[in-house]
Amino acid sequence: MTVECGILQGKVVLITGASSGIGAAAARVFAREGAKVVLAARREERLRELVAELRDKGAEAEYVVADMVRREDTRQAVAVAVETFGRLDGAFNNAGWGQGRTPLHEMDDELYDQIMDVNVRGVWNCLRDEIAAMLETGGGAIVNNSSVAALLATPVAAPYVASKHAVVGLTKAAAAEYAAAGIRVNSVAPGTTRTEVVSEWFDNNPGIEEMLHQATPQPRTAEPEEIAEAAAWLLSDRASFVTGQTVPVDGGFTVV
Ligand code: NDP
Repeated sequence: MTVECGILQGKVVLITGASSGIGAAAARVFAREGAKVVLAARREERLRELVAELRDKGAEAEYVVADMVRREDTRQAVAVAVETFGRLDGAFNNAGWGQGRTPLHEMDDELYDQIMDVNVRGVWNCLRDEIAAMLETGGGAIVNNSSVAALLATPVAAPYVASKHAVVGLTKAAAAEYAAAGIRVNSVAPGTTRTEVVSEWFDNNPGIEEMLHQATPQPRTAEPEEIAEAAAWLLSDRASFVTGQTVPVDGGFTVV
């Protein structure tokens, strides 16, 4: 992979949840656009394989095993980026999880805690450590992965909906607070995207994919690369006057 003028040329970018799905697609897209990428997640084997693939293509890549719920791990993830490549210019806080399909009044505390922990505390931990690193070098850009469930309610997934609305709140708050310091913070809000978890969900729920297509002006499921492309643009200098925004990447799902 010879990249000379990608939109992320030379930028050091941390990607959380890079072991599969949208995060893995982001690793490939950002590297193709010239970024030096640091991949973080819990499944080491997947991270190791992806880093090897990227290096084979000529990209600079490193990985760190980290659980975003643990502050010491997010600190370590940022430290690996800074120690390996000298600075942190960008971060895609993508790690997240959403198990649902249970009516709100039947949902237990454990599920609520698990979802809020990874989706909200994880982003909260990352933001603090990433911003601290970016302040050292005069700025940067952060993209949090929310969801269309950050903009409207999807049934039987109340904690997920609440957690993703919180991601939008954190995005706005951080953007407002650090704009003058040269740090932009935005969010992408994907519609249904064909990752392993979603394919499994489709397989276990016949008819659900067609139902979602009917509710989407572009009547199809997104590919993970389409979400990664939007995140790449938001992380790049081409989005230099965009901050605090949540950008739906949803085929029009949220406009009808
Ligand atoms: P995947 O399950 O493929 O990816 C989730 C990633 O997050 C994995 O790499 C997983 O890695 C990582 N992860 C989960 N928990 C933690 C944790 N505690 N610490 C570190 N990493 C963690 O799903 P998707 O790619 O579909 O989802 C990615 C993001 O996109 C999520 O935030 C999701 O909410 C959001 N999203 C997805 C949509 C979709 O339709 N696919 C739609 C809207 C939003 P590991 O298990 O190795 O730690």
